Amino acid sequence: MTVLRSGSASDVGRVRSVNEDRALESLTLFAVADGMGGHAGGEVASRLAIDALQAEFARQPSAGGVVEAVRRANVAVWEQGHSDPEVRGMGTTLTVAALVVVDGGDRLVLANVGDSRAYRMRGGRLDQLTQDHSVAEELVERGELSAAEAAVHPHRHILTRALGVGPDVDVDTWELHPQQGDRYLLCSDGLTNEVSPDRITGVLERPGDPRRAAETLVRMANEHGGNDNVTVVIVDVVVGDPPADEPDSATAVAPIVGAGPVAAGANVAAGTFPGDTEALAVADPGPVTTAVAVAAAAPLVRPRAEQQPATPTRRVTIRTLVFVVLLVAIGFGVYSTVRWYVDNSYFVRLSGSELVVYQGRPAGFLWIKPKPVDRTGVTVSQVPQTFVPALRASVEEPSLAGAKRYVANLVAEQRSFVQSSGGAPPPPTTTTTTTTTTTTTGGG
Ligand code: MN
Repeated sequence: MTVLRSGSASDVGRVRSVNEDRALESLTLFAVADGMGGHAGGEVASRLAIDALQAEFARQPSAGGVVEAVRRANVAVWEQGHSDPEVRGMGTTLTVAALVVVDGGDRLVLANVGDSRAYRMRGGRLDQLTQDHSVAEELVERGELSAAEAAVHPHRHILTRALGVGPDVDVDTWELHPQQGDRYLLCSDGLTNEVSPDRITGVLERPGDPRRAAETLVRMANEHGGNDNVTVVIVDVVVGDPPADEPDSATAVAPIVGAGPVAAGANVAAGTFPGDTEALAVADPGPVTTAVAVAAAAPLVRPRAEQQPATPTRRVTIRTLVFVVLLVAIGFGVYSTVRWYVDNSYFVRLSGSELVVYQGRPAGFLWIKPKPVDRTGVTVSQVPQTFVPALRASVEEPSLAGAKRYVANLVAEQRSFVQSSGGAPPPPTTTTTTTTTTTTTGGG
């Protein structure tokens, strides 16, 4: 028997005005969806996906049912995005964990499309279980980029797979053997872009209420900048099989439950990447109709190390003066550090229809507002439309040169897209009232 206990948190972040992420927590089904596209599209896409997932999984709570449910979710988003001009072009990521019975044993089935992620904490170690379907990640897999380079790569925001892009979609799936003490994390990229794996580990390794841990992670993402919506679902295995030596206990999780690469049209607008280069071994476990034998998740209270803050012993002495002097010195040090930090931060953001490079932090920092340092003259119609949501929110770069290079790469990307696809690029969301600055770089 396996008993799970979960908690979740979601927040709009510090930069955006709408939370397009959505979390799902039920007894045996957990998911995160990160919607994108257009005016209201992202919100609609993630909601449709989660609702369809839940409805289909309820009909068919099995390993195969998880994959089917993700496909239904895709169809739901695709059809709506097709028929309703208000939400045309919307899409969403979807990362799912479901407790099901396979051959009489409890299994956790993961399914993923897009760049939301699933991680597992086991034995004090955090392992990423899913692979991002992004341009940058595919370059890493092909050995053309290091993970560190990928983290700042200009294409890191482009997805190669998402729900709602075509009538069918490839779904990555894994079948895991849940063990007592395991802690699973599902999250949108709003967490992983802001908080390092080490810091995530630091939070997850402290036992306790999963909801508290989820809230802590969301707060950390916001403290780091909160440049995106952030959503976290944490699932603890409070009762389950004891930890055992098995192949599963390493990073290698048993891949792939009946998720054959079915779709041809699974690629996103970037279009330059073949959907799935890795051969997925398809081991369909067959229809599993057994009802899941999961007891209601009884709240299991683990001892939590509550720390009483030490009562400060106050002594007002002549040393107070020395202390004040020190404070002033420290204050000056802090001021200089903040100034340095802000002056060495850059980001690109849409200002009207123009891409502008700013110096400073996107949401400002303390009393310092970001200031425009380079009006690039590049308009929204000159860059791939998949970048527009990110550009609205702002894209951070480590230097002014890096920011300019990023903009140049976008323009090049759009040009090569137009050339290589042979088809028309996705329609611009803005009818650009082209200003005098629109550059026609002669001959390209
Ligand atoms: Mn996101």
